[in-house]
Amino acid sequence: MEDNRKTILVVSAHAADFVWRAAGAIALYVERGYKVRILCLSYGERGESERLWKIPGMTVEKVKEDRHAESTRAAEILGAEVRFFDMSDYPIVPTEEKIVEMVNEFRLNKPEIVLTHSFEDPYNPDHPLACELTLKTRVYAQAAGYPAQGKGGQDNAPPVFCFEPHQPEQCNFKPQLLLDITPVWEKKLAAMQSMAAQEHLVAYYTDLGKRRGVQAVRNSGRRQIKFAEAYQRIYPQVTDTLS
Ligand SMILES: [Zn+2]
Repeated sequence: MEDNRKTILVVSAHAADFVWRAAGAIALYVERGYKVRILCLSYGERGESERLWKIPGMTVEKVKEDRHAESTRAAEILGAEVRFFDMSDYPIVPTEEKIVEMVNEFRLNKPEIVLTHSFEDPYNPDHPLACELTLKTRVYAQAAGYPAQGKGGQDNAPPVFCFEPHQPEQCNFKPQLLLDITPVWEKKLAAMQSMAAQEHLVAYYTDLGKRRGVQAVRNSGRRQIKFAEAYQRIYPQVTDTLS
């Protein structure tokens, strides 16, 4: 059967980034009938798997296996699809072949919305690289002559939203959009709790969700909002209404 759902692409540098920073948006849009496709560029085997490396006899392959299983489970909880590119981490190494594969994702899925990391992150060079790769492959997908699957063309120019980095002030991240994720908070919490390799982050991102929720109420008067996620745009919003 043909899949006619609208698509969102989420480009995550490491195995868990999409969970902490965008699980609310993912769950919300899945509930609205979208296909949400997560592209995990790496497993975060070197830089974001602290707890696993404390286990005696741990190997890179075992860390990757565990992180693959964790991310797959988190994506299932959220109702999303996940694809792993295994580009290594610290640093992420984007070969020409993997870049073409990312362009294929844009060409074949024609996403309506794209989510990824912020432009800057002095704590983690893989995050800005993931942002750069997302913008590059989005543009290559539009180029008529770029040799990938499907057809190029500027009819697919989806907005790109950066999700909130761990220390936003150092990354020049300014929330321009506060997304109400109250209806799907329990799903985000369950997805976060499934990431055992970084369990120390659950409380931190629960607090952040509440804080952004308070700010969402302050900026809208909508008192029913309890949890929110912050996003920053890269391209201008196109609209015929000032709102
Ligand atoms: Zn990361």
